Amino acid sequence: MAEEVDLFVIGAGSGGVRAARIASGHGAKVMIAEEYRVGGTCVIRGCVPKKLLVYASRFHDEFEDAAGFGWTVPEPKFDWATLIANKDKEIDRLERAYTANLDRAKVKIVKSRAVLADPHTVKLVATGETVRAKHVLVATGGWPSLGKDIEGHEHVISSNEAFHLKELPKRILIQGGGYIAVEFAGIFNGLGSEVTLVYRGDNILRGFDDEVRNHLRTEMEKRGIKVLTKKIVEAIEKVNGGLCVELSDHEDIMVDKVMFATGRRPNVKGLGLEAAGVALNDKGAIAVNEMSQTSVPHIYAVGDVTDRIALTPVAIREGHAFADSVFGGKPTRVDHNNVPTAVFSEPEIGVIGLTEAHAIAQLAKVDIYKTTFRPMKATLSGRDTRILMKLVVDGATDRLVGAHIVGPDAGEMIQLIGVAVMMKATKADFDATMAVHPSAAEELVTMREKFATHVRQAAE
Ligand SMILES: Cc1cc2nc3c(=O)[nH]c(=O)nc-3n(C[C@H](O)[C@H](O)[C@H](O)COP(=O)(O)OP(=O)(O)OC[C@H]3O[C@@H](n4cnc5c(N)ncnc54)[C@H](O)[C@@H]3O)c2cc1C
Repeated sequence: MAEEVDLFVIGAGSGGVRAARIASGHGAKVMIAEEYRVGGTCVIRGCVPKKLLVYASRFHDEFEDAAGFGWTVPEPKFDWATLIANKDKEIDRLERAYTANLDRAKVKIVKSRAVLADPHTVKLVATGETVRAKHVLVATGGWPSLGKDIEGHEHVISSNEAFHLKELPKRILIQGGGYIAVEFAGIFNGLGSEVTLVYRGDNILRGFDDEVRNHLRTEMEKRGIKVLTKKIVEAIEKVNGGLCVELSDHEDIMVDKVMFATGRRPNVKGLGLEAAGVALNDKGAIAVNEMSQTSVPHIYAVGDVTDRIALTPVAIREGHAFADSVFGGKPTRVDHNNVPTAVFSEPEIGVIGLTEAHAIAQLAKVDIYKTTFRPMKATLSGRDTRILMKLVVDGATDRLVGAHIVGPDAGEMIQLIGVAVMMKATKADFDATMAVHPSAAEELVTMREKFATHVRQAAE
């Protein structure tokens, strides 16, 4: 007879692991299947290894900047193999920690691909066994989408492979304009590669505030990253001495590696969703209601596979809310508004809430406060870089509805601005807050002059 569980979780990533642990804590019998490595994208080949590589890449500036502060640094040498080996060791440690946490929570882990055979039956592909589940949670995440097949597509790597390259490429072309593309551009640039970023749109980071997009692009270009927009990669040919990349304007670029960071697709293929009657939405993600419930009432889905906001803390929050709602007797909805987020580009970005353009589209009156300035550290290091800070305020209520920062530690700053935004802070609250001096963040509470006011004209 097939084993029976209260909850079967497919995918031991950010959302699945949290849901499994919390549901088990509420007394449910829980099994979780993972086809690759426990921890999922974020831990194994996403946020964590990415941030470790970002740290590595930033030493480049530190060594250079030290001279202005009186230090003589012997010519620094970087060893890619050491970085990757140390990064892998840390990822192994985290995988063990995630596994131990699941064990401690009495969640049974099965190392297998799992697919739905019918609405209540999950098949473990590794053994062919089946499990009967009262509830199923699909938390299978997403997968890099490399776009249409082009000539030479076999030479393209995604972020998955970028974490395991045998050596640091001397020259790399990255196609894409989203956060993963700009982050890897910064990583490879900082580690010493010659980087070309190719993006089909007008400007990088679609969806971000226009000034943030322009500011980052300028800063990336100052660092020597070649940013080519309104172009795509048409073909890649392996030639003597590397890869010859042909762009849509017929320019040829010689590089050693080509990486595509052209978006991610929900992981729904071959999951047996049709057999179970689980509907997809028009974006190909699992359609869910605000309780993360699919078209089949006892089957739920959280995280990237639902394509709401593809970020780890969101997947975790959705997984937790699902477990509390279904097994803890505490119906919980996740608020997807005002999610603070960082882009670990060089320089870093931190944003929350509305862009200036979105605010103008939604609100009758919008006040903009803005500053750009040279970081204090750059005065002695001589580095040519500027910080951008921008606050978007609802002119009718004085509430802060958006904050946008480009500069060192922007990710750390935006986390705390997030608390203020959740507490419905007004610009007057920011003004009343004493500055921390000398810091970059003090500019956030000392911007007195409105940079612009947008008032919607009444319809004629
Ligand atoms: C390069 C990169 C950098 C990122 N950086 C950040 C960042 O800085 N901050 C941030 O918040 N987010 C970041 N993200 C996004 C973040 O990783 C995801 O939003 C998050 O991991 C989503 O969690 P999840 O639970 O939905 O899925 P995942 O973490 O992707 O977990 C899904 C798991 O399901 C497994 N699986 C899939 N199908 C099956 C099956 N049929 N049977 C068994 N197992 C299966 C997969 O192997 C995987 O382990 C990054 C992503 C990438 C790719």
